Amino acid sequence: MKKHNFSAGPCILPKEVIIKASEAVMDFNGSGLSLIEISHRSKDFVAVMENARSLALELLDLKDKGYQALFLQGGASLEFLRVANNLMETKAGYLNTGTWSDKAIKEAKLYGEVVEVGSSKDENYKYIPKGYAVPKGLDYLHITSNNTIYGTQFKKFPVTDAPLVCDMSSDIFSRQLDFSKFDLIYAGAQKNMGPAGATLVVVKEEILGKVSRTIPSMLDYQVHISKDSMFNTPSVFAVYTSMLTLEWLKKLGGIAAIEEINEKKARLLYSEIDLNPVFKGYANTEDRSIMNATFNLTDESLKSTFETLLKEAGINGLNGHRSVGGYRASMYNALSLESVGVLVDVMSEMERKG
Ligand SMILES: *Cc1c(COP(=O)(O)O)cnc(C)c1O
Repeated sequence: MKKHNFSAGPCILPKEVIIKASEAVMDFNGSGLSLIEISHRSKDFVAVMENARSLALELLDLKDKGYQALFLQGGASLEFLRVANNLMETKAGYLNTGTWSDKAIKEAKLYGEVVEVGSSKDENYKYIPKGYAVPKGLDYLHITSNNTIYGTQFKKFPVTDAPLVCDMSSDIFSRQLDFSKFDLIYAGAQKNMGPAGATLVVVKEEILGKVSRTIPSMLDYQVHISKDSMFNTPSVFAVYTSMLTLEWLKKLGGIAAIEEINEKKARLLYSEIDLNPVFKGYANTEDRSIMNATFNLTDESLKSTFETLLKEAGINGLNGHRSVGGYRASMYNALSLESVGVLVDVMSEMERKG
């Protein structure tokens, strides 16, 4: 039976990407060798890395604008500290919109003063803070554009004279933005781009090299840039698969095309959540994410009925994060409108039963 994969991460990837990636594991480019048993310095793999870096900048419309794209390791979690290590001289601002920004704050505190510019902790991160004043003189301001766990998403971005740093792990390549407003973007591959093991970092070069501390080589963005993202052995399978997803997205018509589909999926699901008395949305309406929709049953006694129907329909990965409970439907780029339709059908069946 066809499964509908709503997993929050690692997540669904386009079927053709999975097929091509598995073929390359068996025989890469007709070489008679596997992608994962050749040198990362071979001509074939160097081309993969170059293509992946170039596609990332092209899709974000950041080519020839002073940015570099890197595929690093350590996940978004390592960027929490790498960002601070590379950019923090005395103090940085953070908007606290949930677990992931909280973890970023914790790491940043190892390197300097953290000013919490805004927070939605008081309501378990149901909303995106607004009306805060960004202080002057920050080394950078850090935000999390999409809060995977709570299903909230920035629609408007803070204005600051400091470099703007954004954890876009769970909504990169999903919607059109003026990406040149950001000075550093990072995203773990496993949410919207590829398998776990690679982190995309897109950085404006002019913000680097300004701190007085000595940065260890592996943590230094400038070292990785100078080595074309090959300072050490990259995660070859994750980079290759990410490249395939970026090619898939380009062929589809880029971010503009996928955004249209993503908005359709989100509209379909949220209108069901709002109209169906069996369900209640978690995040504030105006801050709802088009990637991760969080909701609860209005009557907990219906839990086992709902979960049985989900299972029968082949729906996977709908459990909410343990810190929020309820349900979370992650509708990343590769999830089809049809899959969202199957979920909505199950939800309306619940209404008929209830
Ligand atoms: C999943 C996630 C992370 C953590 O990513 P790792 O690659 O596991 O370190 C960080 N930020 C956001 C927004 C996420 O969704």
